[in-house]
Parts: sequence; C-alpha cells; structure tokens
Amino acid sequence: MRIMSAQLETQSTEAAAEAVATAGKRVLLAAPRGYCAGVDRAVVTVEKALELYGPPVYVRKEIVHNKHVVETLKGLGAVFVEETDEVPEGATVIFSAHGVAPVVHEEAAARSLKTIDATCPLVTKVHREAVRFAQEDYDILLIGHEGHEEVVGTSGEAPDHITLVEGPDDVANISVRDPERVVWLSQTTLSVDETMETVRRLREKFPALANPPSDDICYATQNRQLAVKKMAPDTDLMIVVGSRNSSNSVRLVEVALEHGAAAGHLVDYAEEIDPAWFDGVQTVGVTSGASVPEILVRGVLALLAEHGYTDVRPIVAAEESLLFALPNELRRDLKAAAGAAGDGSKIRRDTAYDASSPLH
Ligand code: SF4
Repeated sequence: MRIMSAQLETQSTEAAAEAVATAGKRVLLAAPRGYCAGVDRAVVTVEKALELYGPPVYVRKEIVHNKHVVETLKGLGAVFVEETDEVPEGATVIFSAHGVAPVVHEEAAARSLKTIDATCPLVTKVHREAVRFAQEDYDILLIGHEGHEEVVGTSGEAPDHITLVEGPDDVANISVRDPERVVWLSQTTLSVDETMETVRRLREKFPALANPPSDDICYATQNRQLAVKKMAPDTDLMIVVGSRNSSNSVRLVEVALEHGAAAGHLVDYAEEIDPAWFDGVQTVGVTSGASVPEILVRGVLALLAEHGYTDVRPIVAAEESLLFALPNELRRDLKAAAGAAGDGSKIRRDTAYDASSPLH
C-alpha cells in the first residue's frame, strides 16, 4: 500500500514538474508557409522527368534553393550542373524555377540538348516586362540582389537597358539616360517593405518613374511575410526553416526581427536548432520559405514538442490555392507516354502536390 502511494506521489510530482515546464509555452505556426506554386511545379517537373525518361536527368543550377530538395532529387537520379556545357550532347536538361537568360537557351540549342523550362511563370512575367520596356526604350531599374540566379536571368533579357539597384542605399549611385523614361521592376522574392523604400527613394530622384504593370514580388513571398509580421510582435524566438541561399527564407528572418521578434534563426533541419535558444522563451514562431517541403517543418515541430512546446496555434494571414500546369514540353511527352501505355497508368497524376513524394 505504501509502495503504491509512493508511486502515485512520484507520478503526480512528475506531472506537476511537466506542467510547470510547459506552462505558457506555445508555438505560433505561420500559414501560409512552405511550398509555393512555382516551387511545387519545378520539383514535380524533375520527379516526373526522372520517372518518364529515367535517370540521369540534368538540372541546371539548384532546381529550387533548398538543400533537402536538392539532395533528395540527387538520390532519385537528378544530376545538378552549373552550366549547360556540363550536360552531354543530346541529353535532357531542366532549367530551374529561377529562370534563365536567353543566351542559356541558345547554348542549350547549340549542344542539341532537350530542354524543359521549369522557370516559375511569375518569373517569366517579369522577363516579359523587361523585354517590353526595353523595346519601348525605357531604362529599367531592376531591384534585386546581385548574382542571384533570377536577377541574372532577368537582366539577360535586356542587358543594355537594365541597371541593378540593390537596395535603398544604392539609389544615390544610379543614373539613367532619360529620367522621363524610366521604370522599376524587381526580383520576386524581396522584402516588400525594403523594396517600397527603395522605390520611394528612386521616385524622389526620378519623379516620372513608372511602376511595373503588376506586383513583381510574388504572392507567395508577400503572404509569407504577412504571416510573419502578424506573429512577430508576440514571438520570443522565430524559427524559419529554409536554406541560406534561399532569398525569400532569409527575408523572413529579417522581417521577423524588424517586426518585433526578439530573436530569429534560419535552419535547414530541426537538428540545427540549439536548445540554448529556448532559454526564457515562451512563444516560438515557426514558418518556412517558399522552397521548403512541409516534412522539414514537421521535424521542427516534433523537436519543439520534446522541449515542452506542444501548444501549436496557427496564425493565418492568407489562403492560397494557386497551381501551375507543368511545362509544356513535359506535358506533351507525358501525354504521348500515357497514350503509348494505353491508359497512362504508369505515369503519376499531373498534380502540383503528390503526398507520396519524399519531398512532401
Ligand atoms: S517564390 Fe514566387 S516567383 Fe519564386 S517560384 Fe515561388 S511563386 Fe514563383
């Protein structure tokens, strides 16, 4: 009898200790987060190309800027190269979601490569704007980060008309041929607030500055930043899942810190989280960049639960339902293969989300 009551006492002491340890601890989980329509399309493009043509399938640059995605696709037989001259003549090469300059298409044609262009349609939209404004002889001020693949690709559409503006502090150095004929465009994954500040300063200098026909910073970038802005003031620690070369993921950490999060860290995997970050932390915010599969967020939530952060509350900033069709070249081949197979049963469904994929 005495033994039983001692056991009960121990259990209730443990329960009380756990209650104290978890008291007030909570997670704010951003929505939307993770994969955008353009990333989903690009990743599924590589998966389906591997399935249809068999490995190896070559991919120029990282298909999207996420370490886990790239490593997983490598495991399935994708071969990532920096330039098309590394691809054997006549082989298939996929262009990444960030887009390529026209010269890359020319180089691929010269090597008789079969190309599949997984450029996000929202990046293609910016390319088209650049071509149109260049044809109309505008000076184009492209706000973006030097060397980023998307900026390199967009600049390549009209190299003689485009000047890169890296941020508000760069404006003082910018000159144009005709201040009455100047337009700004931007990389799709920038900080909305910082970009607007850059535009404000550009307009001070060039009052006739024209706007892009529609937002260049894409819906996914804007929505993920909106969710972080909502959460940040109540957040002691913001964990952003994403890779260091992912522009929109890096921006999420910056936005969190600018809007009140006491601390913020970017991690590729849950294992990179230092438990010391939790010292004195009641509320942890969690989000992920547009190139991050949800499986990585689940890993972070599991680790947080081990540290007593079991109360998870979604913070919804927007609903997203956009899907993009796969690239035409691939759809054509998938259709032909489905026809040859009779019922197409060997080809997976053409959807932007395949829950069976190791990437989801
Ligand atoms: S972040 Fe935006 S532009 Fe980039 S792939 Fe996603 S939807 Fe497209």
